[in-house]
Amino acid sequence: MIRDPLRWIVAEAAAWSARGLSRSLRPVDRAGPSVVERGGRRLVNYASNDYLGLASDPRVIEAAVRAARRGWGAGASPLVAGWTLEHEGLARELAAFEGTEAAVLFPTGYAANLGTIATLVGKPDVVYSDRLNHACLIDGSRLSGATIRIYPHGDADALAALLAADSGGFRRSLIVTDGVFSMDGDLAPIGRLADLADEHGAMLLVDEAHGTGVLGPDGRGAASELGAADRVTVRVGTLSKALASIGGFVAGSSRLIDWLTNAARPLIFSTAAPPASVAAARAALGIVRDEPWRRDRVRGLAARLRDALGIGPIDDPSPAPIVPIPVGDAEAAVAAARLLADRGFLVPAIRPPTVPEGTSRLRISLSAAHSDGDVDALCEAIRAIGLGARG
Ligand code: PMP
Repeated sequence: MIRDPLRWIVAEAAAWSARGLSRSLRPVDRAGPSVVERGGRRLVNYASNDYLGLASDPRVIEAAVRAARRGWGAGASPLVAGWTLEHEGLARELAAFEGTEAAVLFPTGYAANLGTIATLVGKPDVVYSDRLNHACLIDGSRLSGATIRIYPHGDADALAALLAADSGGFRRSLIVTDGVFSMDGDLAPIGRLADLADEHGAMLLVDEAHGTGVLGPDGRGAASELGAADRVTVRVGTLSKALASIGGFVAGSSRLIDWLTNAARPLIFSTAAPPASVAAARAALGIVRDEPWRRDRVRGLAARLRDALGIGPIDDPSPAPIVPIPVGDAEAAVAAARLLADRGFLVPAIRPPTVPEGTSRLRISLSAAHSDGDVDALCEAIRAIGLGARG
């Protein structure tokens, strides 16, 4: 009998399962801008990053349909023949939006961070990384082969000490951080990080995945919200959240973007995104520019929820539309998510390895498509299952 060479997975999977960490894909069907159906049940969706409600906007859909009529797949990588006028148009519009000289697209936000970090630094270099950075910043840092120094979450003083201790010991230095931390909803101290980058001649990369379109007076993200956008050397964003499509981008100087175009492997070796998905992101970006009420709306809903649940520092709540509710134990978080689903709300349980052991949580993502009533009903359900600080 031939032994299954994948038999080792049985024991590995059992160990995961015993820790309450098993995962599976569970299909949902879209039933409205903020409603899904799953397993025959209608659920108000608090698990989506469609922060501005643009994924179902008729203008976004129409832009995609119009482009799709001219062909779907890009058919080649960007440097070969996959970079269409649609890609070029979006790259230019993103650069104008960000106020940078240039921008370039990647297949996903993950690929943008991974490829950019691994292009900017290598073995003789050092990356300084916030402890709660997103997986793609961690993986890009590892892939680069650079020395990695992890500083405590949001702790610019600790970073300053690390930079001072390393002074002159490496060829190049890169500070990498989420702008909005994806599992906590708080902002990185980007102004302080920029000061340190200046002081030590380091590059500063900010991943604006959850900030683009949502934060800052013009929707440019967390750095802009904190008045530091022009001090960020490498601005990475995604097209897959507020911009309602799929793909990633980097905005910065022409020197940076030209170099990435020459050397960033996910950009060079992956097929370009379908022009239709690019057209959808272009339409969404136009709406971000023209309809600031959408970001005001989603911020207002986040404030309403935080206030009702007594979550976060009251004097200085995060403006981001991500609201975590701490639970602690992984199985308890899954049980809480199930109770909310029973009441008609899709709120994901976030567990290790996505968050550190013992910090499992529910994570609520808000959208401009939610109503005040949706949010009030969610608060009531959260209190009914015994969570939330105010009872
Ligand atoms: N950065 C952060 C902080 C994210 O949360 C995500 C998405 N989960 C990404 C990058 C990856 O973006 P994309 O989904 O476009 O690959």
